Amino acid sequence: MAELKDEILKVLTDLVRIRSTADRPDELKRVIDYAENYLSAPSIIKKRYEKNGKHSLVATFHDTMEPEVMFVGHMDVVEAEDWQFEPKIEGDKILGRGVIDMKGPDAVMLKMFKDIAGSGGKPNIGLMLTTDEEVGSENGVEYLLKEVGWGARFAVIPDGGGSFNIVYRGKGVVHLKARAKGKAIHGSMPWLGENAIDKIIDFYTELREQFPKEPCGDPIHWHNTINIGRIEGGKVVNQVPDFAEAHLDIRFVEPWSSRGMFEFVKKYADRHGVELELISRGEPVETDPNHPYVQAFKRAAESVLGRDVKLVVEYGATDGRFFAEKGIPNIVTCAEGGGAHSRDEWARISSFPQLYEIMMKFLEESGL
Ligand SMILES: [Zn+2]
Repeated sequence: MAELKDEILKVLTDLVRIRSTADRPDELKRVIDYAENYLSAPSIIKKRYEKNGKHSLVATFHDTMEPEVMFVGHMDVVEAEDWQFEPKIEGDKILGRGVIDMKGPDAVMLKMFKDIAGSGGKPNIGLMLTTDEEVGSENGVEYLLKEVGWGARFAVIPDGGGSFNIVYRGKGVVHLKARAKGKAIHGSMPWLGENAIDKIIDFYTELREQFPKEPCGDPIHWHNTINIGRIEGGKVVNQVPDFAEAHLDIRFVEPWSSRGMFEFVKKYADRHGVELELISRGEPVETDPNHPYVQAFKRAAESVLGRDVKLVVEYGATDGRFFAEKGIPNIVTCAEGGGAHSRDEWARISSFPQLYEIMMKFLEESGL
C-alpha cells in the first residue's frame, strides 16, 4: 500500500509541475508525452492524436476502438498562480493545481494500467486522456468519439461528484446569446424609435415563464432551469437604445435535447424580433442506476471504503455528455478533495490508493 501511494504521489507531482493550461500548447503535448512514456509496457496499445494543438492518447490492451469499459481523464488544468504548480504536502493533504481536477485521478488510472500490464493482464478496457476538457472538449473527447470513432460499452470518468459519490445523471446545457436591434431616437420621443432593450426584456420575461418557478418543491430540482448571466445594451439615459444583448444559460433534463431546446427558445425569440446564437451545448446524461457496471462500481466502492456510497445527480456538465450522446452509459466519480479551479485546490492523499483499489475491484466485480 505504501508503494502504491508513493508511486501515485510521484506521478501526480510530475503531472502538477507540467503547466498544462489551454494557452500552453507545448505543455499540453508534454503532459501527454509523459503519459505515453509511463505506459511503456509493450502489451499496452497506444494511439496518439492531435487536433488544433490539443493532444490526446488512448491506451488499450486489445486492438479495438470499442473497449468494454473506457476510463476517461483530462490532463489540462485551469490557470493558476506559479506556486500552485509545485505541489505542497500537509499531512494527508496535497495542494496544487489539478490535484483533484483531475491529475490525481489521472495518476491513479496511469498506475492502474501500468500495474495491469505488469501482471500480464489483458482486460478489454481503455484509457482516454485528453487536454481540452476545461475549454469544452471539442478537440479531445468530442473529437475522439465523433470523428475518430472511439466508443465503449461503458465509461468511468473520475472527474466530479465529490468523495466517491457516483454520478449517474447530469443535465444537458445550452448557452445562448440573444441579440436585439432597434432604432435609436431621443429618449423624449420613444414612439419614434424601437427599443432593443425592451425586446430583450419581453422575450426573456415570456421565456422564463416556461420554466418552473422557485421554490419548486423538488428537492433535487430535476427540471429545466434558465439563468440570464449577462445583459448589456444602450448608451445613455435619454436615448432609445438600438442594441441589446443577453447571455442565457439553460440546463435541461431528458427527454429534451439541445437541438429541441434551441428550437423551443427560438420560437420566443422570433416572436420578439430577437436573434439567437448558440454558444455551446451538451446533451443530458441518464445512465440506468441499475446498470450492471454501475452496480458493480457501487459494490466495489462500498467494499473498499467500508461505507455506503451514494448515487447522485450533477448539475454541471462533464465529459459524460459526449458519451451519453453516443448512447454510452457512464458514471462520474471522484477521490476526496475540493477547491477545483481555486487557489485552495486540494486532495486527500489516502483517497488515491482507495480510488485505485475501487477501480481494480470494479474490474474484478465486472469480470474484466
Ligand atoms: Zn427547482
